[in-house]
Amino acid sequence: MKATEMLAKRLELIKPSPSVTAMSRANELIAAGHDICNLAGGEPDFETPVHIIDGASEAMRSGATKYTSVDGTKALKEAIVEKFRRENGLHYETSQISVGAGAKQIIFNAVTCSVNDGDEAIIPAPYWVSYPDIVRFNGGLPVFVTTSAAQDFKITPDQLREALTPRTKWLFLNSPNNPTGSTYTSSELAALGRVLREHPDVQVLTDDIYEHIRYDDSNYTSFAAANPDLFDRTLTINGVSKAYSMTGFRIGYAGGPQPLIKAMAMLQSQNSGNPASVSQAAALTALKGGMDFFPAWLAKYRQRRDYVVSHLNAVQGLSCPTPQGAFYVYVGCEEIIGKTSPSGVRISNDTDVVMYLLNDYGVATVQGAAYGVSPAFRISFATSLTTLEKACARIAAACAALR
Ligand code: PMP
Ligand code: GLU
Repeated sequence: MKATEMLAKRLELIKPSPSVTAMSRANELIAAGHDICNLAGGEPDFETPVHIIDGASEAMRSGATKYTSVDGTKALKEAIVEKFRRENGLHYETSQISVGAGAKQIIFNAVTCSVNDGDEAIIPAPYWVSYPDIVRFNGGLPVFVTTSAAQDFKITPDQLREALTPRTKWLFLNSPNNPTGSTYTSSELAALGRVLREHPDVQVLTDDIYEHIRYDDSNYTSFAAANPDLFDRTLTINGVSKAYSMTGFRIGYAGGPQPLIKAMAMLQSQNSGNPASVSQAAALTALKGGMDFFPAWLAKYRQRRDYVVSHLNAVQGLSCPTPQGAFYVYVGCEEIIGKTSPSGVRISNDTDVVMYLLNDYGVATVQGAAYGVSPAFRISFATSLTTLEKACARIAAACAALR
């Protein structure tokens, strides 16, 4: 048997996460001594607040180093119940909470536990890269609804109505969105909810992981808060990765219907067991410790966003909508497609744009093809202003050099 023949057929359904791939490619070049502005990685660049680190090390010293209950400690689930009540006006019981190794695992578990072969998941595009692969791996069919900058990258009730079929199992929502930053208002969510009221078999998976990273003063609304009568059909996903800069701790969680939450715990008992005990203790400290550190972070994100948007919009050939949330800009690059680089390479699509920026100008980004709407590329501005200044100057020079 050839070594590759041992691999399962179902692996053909997925590919490596493009954002993870772009991050590692940039890191390898940096390790090899190249001068790279790394705008590929979607993770906060701030240090994890010290009180959270202290909470983790204290927990370790006081014995929180053993197995815990499989989908989260009682104390952490209670803190999550309280978080949903306090910040989202959502009233879950602890039996409706699941904690896993990151929102990514939670979404994977939810889909594995609910999707049968041929079931459809409506995924508005641009989408976070992992949604379609998670659906496909579990036998489902992603149904993409394409949005444009002109509609602020948000799906309309009519688009949702058209995409629904008798096989629709899930509508995925992600607000603020990765990669566009678009954020649904309460009334926009209510309008989508009105469509779903006529389709009682459709559930909503709302990924709220960027809820705190928003640039206007309006209150954040989660889907179930805008649609209280759809609470029982909604799985509300969140985590500590982005709000508390705890990506490496790997703690994500969900609130949702008890039968699904119970099934997710059963699955987790067979695939990973409990999320790391120390990370759970750190997440507990985070959720109970307030967010006094956060306004300073948000001010920095805002300053970086404003810098990047204004400088990229000044570049001939690029268009950069202003994101309302998260720490990404999704840069349209239609006008440079079809041009040729100084070394004679024709730029045929957004993957070529991204490779040109990386190889010839040392700027790492992610191609729009990975998010389902092209031609564009994603920039993460979760990095220093100095890096962003250098990167924007390089991108401007790269575009100017095309013929
Ligand atoms: N959802 C979205 C939209 C994301 O951008 C990310 C981070 N890549 C995740 C979920 C997963 O976050 P984590 O697994 O770190 O909790
Ligand atoms: N949130 C990140 C991103 O989209 C992390 C990488 C990933 O898990 O896909 O870049």
